[in-house]
Amino acid sequence: MKEKITKTADEWLNELTVEQFHVCRDKGTERPFSGKYHDSKEPGVYSCACCGEPLFSSETKFDSGTGWPSFYAPMDPEHIHTEVDTSHSMHRTEVVCARCDAHLGHVFEDGPQPTGLRYCINSVSLDLDEDKET
Ligand code: FE
Repeated sequence: MKEKITKTADEWLNELTVEQFHVCRDKGTERPFSGKYHDSKEPGVYSCACCGEPLFSSETKFDSGTGWPSFYAPMDPEHIHTEVDTSHSMHRTEVVCARCDAHLGHVFEDGPQPTGLRYCINSVSLDLDEDKET
């Protein structure tokens, strides 16, 4: 198992933007259609904005129409964790970075084939590296 990255809230506050801290460390949600990647079709690898772990490939990105970047599969299932989220009177499955526990978004079972899953991820939780092999 990979080494976990654990930092205090103050340390994260120093490294992240206010919006990144709100979404990634405080389980917030960016406004739909506001993020820089919801419409992106550039090839590359989307990594965790907090720790750089490669999370999603542009090859599994699809246009969900929701206003958030959406993927039907993670690059490596070991790189993400899912947790039950019952906040806001909903039953959802939260997606977090396995390495640093950053909140990424949620996964729903209404995605396209071959998985039928829709990983609905906040743009601010991601950094696209266009030079990385997908
Ligand atoms: Fe991370």
